[in-house]
Amino acid sequence: MPTSAPSRHPQPTGPAWTEEALDLLKLVRQLVTAELAPRVEQFESEATFPRELLNTLGRAGLLGLPYPQQYGGGGQPYEVYLTVLETLAQHWLGVAQSVNIHVLSCYGLAAFGSEEQRAVWLPDMLGGELLGANCISEAEAGSDISALRTTATLHEDRYVVNGVKSWVSHAGVADYYNVFCRTGSDGVRGLSLLLAPAGTPGLRPQAPERKMGVRSSPTAQIVFDGAEITQDRRIGRPGKGFLIATGLFDRGRLGIAACAVGLAQAALDYAVAYAKTRQQFGKPIISFQGIGFLLADMATQVSAARTLLLDAARRLDAGQHSSAAAAKAKLFATDTAMRVTTDAVQVLGGYGYVTDHPTERWMREAKLLQLIEGTNQIQRLVISSSL
Ligand SMILES: Cc1cc2nc3c(=O)[nH]c(=O)nc-3n(C[C@H](O)[C@H](O)[C@H](O)COP(=O)(O)OP(=O)(O)OC[C@H]3O[C@@H](n4cnc5c(N)ncnc54)[C@H](O)[C@@H]3O)c2cc1C
Repeated sequence: MPTSAPSRHPQPTGPAWTEEALDLLKLVRQLVTAELAPRVEQFESEATFPRELLNTLGRAGLLGLPYPQQYGGGGQPYEVYLTVLETLAQHWLGVAQSVNIHVLSCYGLAAFGSEEQRAVWLPDMLGGELLGANCISEAEAGSDISALRTTATLHEDRYVVNGVKSWVSHAGVADYYNVFCRTGSDGVRGLSLLLAPAGTPGLRPQAPERKMGVRSSPTAQIVFDGAEITQDRRIGRPGKGFLIATGLFDRGRLGIAACAVGLAQAALDYAVAYAKTRQQFGKPIISFQGIGFLLADMATQVSAARTLLLDAARRLDAGQHSSAAAAKAKLFATDTAMRVTTDAVQVLGGYGYVTDHPTERWMREAKLLQLIEGTNQIQRLVISSSL
């Protein structure tokens, strides 16, 4: 069974695309064909986390791309990193999503950690020897992070953490967790970030959720029951948690947008290839205007989504980051992924609805992207508040 069609996405251009960056993309294109495409169907249907594959990506330098080389990162602009993510997502959304989660898990330490903290932990994180996860959401605090209830109380040199985190991607497979918790007053000013090692007594990942898609990436609650985390693992000053989370969301939204563009491109390529070969009424179905125009709209939406993503990425790389630009990219790209994957099923007709083709899986996977890193309603809130 084919898992993807050849991509017609042209070679990227612009100042970010140094010879090194183009070589990197070439390597990624080889990796996705050799390592991702042959495994995706089995791992997704069996809900198995591809840890070995992530180790391979780590060895190839893909788990720390947008961070400084000084700490073992790739020193690449966001534009290059996000194009790599898009390429991974064209072949396996779950793996691209894992890379996004891990790269985000390094953000707090890289941007807000002390020099000493960075020197100790960051190289292993950026090299992928240690895999990360982000614990923000709780049962009563999803879109509204100010409602976070997990507490961290300082006793001498350690925080004692109590609470339950929901929906933690990489729960149970991560080596460390970014735990956003309440060290102070109500509201967003009382939040701080702790970097908790996976083996901490009292930190207990629960059974994975049974999901509609992206099953290879485990998602679960984590119970914190008197988990003790030493004070030297607090990232940034007490009360800086919300600021760190905001930076993390902005970058995470770009990551999700890149995943969405990759997924939509895969669905478009597959639908085009199918429409050229499938014959009805004695002709390839692409020659019927009803199908040709549908594909034209899909192609236009994918290009527009990529353009918004690149605009937001280039702003970030130029030091002119805009939360609204990241939200627009996330909103448009993920709505595009939902529409384009749904339309790809339409192009394949009945064959699109069964597991003989990847289109039904892509449609299920696209739905997730409209929900995470802030639902698309929350993106509209971010955009409207910037107007
Ligand atoms: C597979 C998966 C993986 C995830 N991974 C992680 C992870 O690694 N770490 C983590 O911390 N979280 C993670 N999440 C959680 C995810 O970020 C939340 O599900 C998301 O933020 C929405 O929160 P909620 O589910 O509580 O929905 P709610 O906040 O309860 O929202 C319900 C509905 O109300 C709408 N809504 C809420 N507030 C407003 C408003 N002000 N205006 C308009 N509409 C509004 C929402 O858009 C949504 O449609 C994951 C979720 C899933 C499903």
